Amino acid sequence: MLYLTFDDGPSGYTQPILDALARHGAKATFFMLGRQANGKQDLLRAMYDAGHGIANHTYNHPYLTSLSMPRFRDEVTATSAAIGGLDHGCLRPPYGASNKSVRAEASELGYTLVTWTIDPRDWSRPGAAAIAQRVISRASPGGVVVMHDGGGDRTQTVAALETILTELGAQGYQFRALCRDGVPPPATSQQPVQPPMGPDNLPQPDPAATVPAGSSGAIKQPTGDNTLHGTVGVKGFARHSTFRKWQLELLLEGVGETFLAFGESPVPDPADLYAWDTTLYPNGKHLLRLRVVYEGMNYDEYTIPVTIANK
Ligand code: ZN
Repeated sequence: MLYLTFDDGPSGYTQPILDALARHGAKATFFMLGRQANGKQDLLRAMYDAGHGIANHTYNHPYLTSLSMPRFRDEVTATSAAIGGLDHGCLRPPYGASNKSVRAEASELGYTLVTWTIDPRDWSRPGAAAIAQRVISRASPGGVVVMHDGGGDRTQTVAALETILTELGAQGYQFRALCRDGVPPPATSQQPVQPPMGPDNLPQPDPAATVPAGSSGAIKQPTGDNTLHGTVGVKGFARHSTFRKWQLELLLEGVGETFLAFGESPVPDPADLYAWDTTLYPNGKHLLRLRVVYEGMNYDEYTIPVTIANK
């Protein structure tokens, strides 16, 4: 038995995922953002009635570790309202970020934290074959796989899912849903696991820590007037002997933060950090922020203003 889970939806990619699951008689669990689920009661009800789990991934995808209790409560209860009676008390913290107080506050609200054991990093779009291979090679009975049906272009995830269901199905795996009546929480919710890094489990840097001497990094491109439209690439570099990883965010003015990408190997100068489709984001003035994270979770931060102007 394997548990497939999908985060950050629902979006336009949810239906093709549901179609693939249905073709294989597979069930999955969808950790939804309240802001995405709002007004989609019919879809959610159909998903639940088809045997899938509908669960809580907060409203705006914040780090729960940095929220006050009232804001924590708002994030969770507003999402619960959006998904209605389908919420069965499973909460997946954005970025997988939790600590003692997050667990205590979740418990006080009646939620169990549910993370994962297998992260193919589908969000980084390594290719459908790579996503499928990572899941297939790491699958083990009772495993919980995290993938994404929202937050960006998930074409690769949809394609990978077909391969995953076909190959693991042939190995005898059954795909079950969590967070439904009579379904016990998975093992991951009992004991916090240290999953591989991903957009949902990037440790939160400690801004109070000091950055090691000799470290460097920068966003090198886009340059010029920094107007972005269509598919754009962002180049940059990050270097230091204790370098851990980089984290690139597009900060949407008036909307909050949207995580874009991260990596864990040093970036030569300059190298592609990320390429994405700007039509997924609202037109306007925004900020690109690169954080170069070092050992001890201290970091350097580099920002440039950008304007998204989709035709
Ligand atoms: Zn998420």
